[in-house]
Amino acid sequence: MSQQLKQFEHVVSPPKKRSRVSENNPYWEKKLSESQISLLEIHDKSDWVNVELFQDYKTPKGIMKKIHWKLPSTKEKNITCGKFKTLGCFNLMGHPDNQAYIQHTKLSCFRSACEYCWMEKWLARESRRSTLRIEKYESVMKQLGKTRFNKPIHVIVSPSWNDKFMRYDLLKKKCREILDKAGIKGGLLIYHPFKLDKKKMKWVCMPHFHVVGFGWLLDNNKNTDKQGWVIKNKGVRQSLHSTIYYQLSHAGVADNIHSITWFGELGYRSKYAELIKVENEEPNDNCEFCGEILVNAVFVATDRPPPDKEFIGLVDSWDWLPTESKTMYFQKILDEKIISLDFDFY
Ligand SMILES: [Zn+2]
Ligand SMILES: [Zn+2]
Ligand SMILES: [Zn+2]
Repeated sequence: MSQQLKQFEHVVSPPKKRSRVSENNPYWEKKLSESQISLLEIHDKSDWVNVELFQDYKTPKGIMKKIHWKLPSTKEKNITCGKFKTLGCFNLMGHPDNQAYIQHTKLSCFRSACEYCWMEKWLARESRRSTLRIEKYESVMKQLGKTRFNKPIHVIVSPSWNDKFMRYDLLKKKCREILDKAGIKGGLLIYHPFKLDKKKMKWVCMPHFHVVGFGWLLDNNKNTDKQGWVIKNKGVRQSLHSTIYYQLSHAGVADNIHSITWFGELGYRSKYAELIKVENEEPNDNCEFCGEILVNAVFVATDRPPPDKEFIGLVDSWDWLPTESKTMYFQKILDEKIISLDFDFY
């Protein structure tokens, strides 16, 4: 058994790339940023959860449907959303100051519609991944020596009065055509069915698109065949990430429809698709400091309640205890038969 475990450990638990915490920053704690706080304020003070729009849609297979658009965060959470999962490494000798390594993080469904997970989990992850995809594209272009139009721009495309409530698939198609004519060769598209009237703190139905993309926006005044559509270059004033974060925070959310569409050179069928692909974020099952596999842990101090913030890092070891041994952990994995098939044990 010990030989097997050794082999097992070697194959499934190589220390992964360090993230968030390091020797110099051994502790990370989640705090709400200013923009998150103001977003929650708008969420609470406006009619955020009630605004809705029904829009016709023809699926790629030709089936007619009605899309029910809402803002994010309008559906009930799952039972486990927000529950803490605590993992730890108690190989104290392998850590700075003989501290324990603890990952105290919340479980999440990562749904945009979830009232609990939408901001801290869905929005955070989607905007991070989208930023990465765009940055990867930028660096591929740099490597290829393409230096023209290699900075992302933020463009708003507003349909004409007559087209505003046309079938969603046609609306999107027309938006793409207009972008194409205007010289935007690829990027992401976020659909906003609603716009906030800040004076009344009410959301109004006013469909438009936000684009973060690459290309040269041709002079609009000379662009005569837009049929009343308006296209505006807003530039990327803050960081790329905050631009995407903000636009995605009040994107249209509907069942079975992605809130972000990638198109052109940044699309999933582009010739660069493999190069700019962002890998799925796997949960880290290994200690950031010694590489050992993490086990379930529990807070045992009695002078205060368990921490209600998410954190990762080194903490006083006497506040925490493992609730399983590494052997139990491996046994559990064996029992669950989640060992990859090409790993030949027997
Ligand atoms: Zn959730
Ligand atoms: Zn908007
Ligand atoms: Zn460790």
